[in-house]
Amino acid sequence: MTHQQPSIRPQISPVTVIGLGPMGLALAGTLLKNGHPTTVWNRTPDKARDLVARGARLGASVADAVAASPLTLVCLKDYTALYEVLDPAGGASAGRALVNLNSGTPKEAHAAASWAAERGAAYLDGAIMVPPPLVGDPRSVFLYSGPREVFDAHRDTLANLGDPRYLGSDHGLAVLHNAALLGLMYATMNGFLHATALVGSAGVPAAEFAELAVNRFLPTVVDATLVEQAPDLDAGHYPGDLGTMEMNLNALEHIALTCEEQGVHSGQPRLMREIAAQAVRDGHGGSNYLAVFEVFKKAAARDAR
Ligand code: NAP
Repeated sequence: MTHQQPSIRPQISPVTVIGLGPMGLALAGTLLKNGHPTTVWNRTPDKARDLVARGARLGASVADAVAASPLTLVCLKDYTALYEVLDPAGGASAGRALVNLNSGTPKEAHAAASWAAERGAAYLDGAIMVPPPLVGDPRSVFLYSGPREVFDAHRDTLANLGDPRYLGSDHGLAVLHNAALLGLMYATMNGFLHATALVGSAGVPAAEFAELAVNRFLPTVVDATLVEQAPDLDAGHYPGDLGTMEMNLNALEHIALTCEEQGVHSGQPRLMREIAAQAVRDGHGGSNYLAVFEVFKKAAARDAR
């Protein structure tokens, strides 16, 4: 005789989402779809209409919304909006967890952590590395920093949104990584767009160049070797036996001159040329190109002011 095990349904934790811009709507919609009792609040309550039709509860006030769940995700425009929205909630967040997902700076994240501590709330700062349509995809990276035990307590709920990456107890780490990764994204996009404009000056269609640049060339220069070489960055080890900074400076000069000949914006290559020239002035003329890392680590005089 077989014994039927009583089915034990995992407890699905209630969640509150504050802020219903495109991203907050995606967060709340995903939680709702996955069966989490979801309470929402937004300055413009009309934006909650579809979610409410699908089963979300609209908080009567911010305090009511925060009190409804052990975990509140905040997804507003910036940290100023966080204070504007949540200050009126008074002590409602005491003993509860707030996970703030707006973008900003590490200094702002630290200030928000102190603000939350004054209210007795557990606080994680976070950053979302995908656009709204990719919320809910297990490959979508979500970054979190703050107390490990707060992350661990809510990890399963956060995993509804994507791949939750815990970066460490320093609250500033999530937005720091966000700025670094977005900087990488913009630099890569601008590199492609500038290169496309350069060949476009001779009538080459973007669609034709994209195949050569993205499918063939890029994987040979930006690939796993960067990961393999990362320990050299940590060690400050830049052997120039396969190519030197002087050689790269020459190449960058040719790019800038070609832009000028072709009537294309030369600001990007000129800046890269200047950074390589600084590396040479700093004594890295015989090092490989990765030695520009040493220039990047120091604020330029005008940045430091
Ligand atoms: P958003 O325009 O950055 O933020 C909209 C939300 O902020 C709305 O809920 C809006 O309320 C609220 N808000 C703005 N100022 C406010 C104020 N002074 N008082 C009260 N509420 C205020 O749109 P979003 O795309 O949803 O982005 C939210 C956060 O997610 C941002 O920090 C953004 O950087 C980050 N993020 C967005 C994306 C993306 O692709 N969208 C990707 C990654 C990260 P109302 O509806 O009442 O105006």
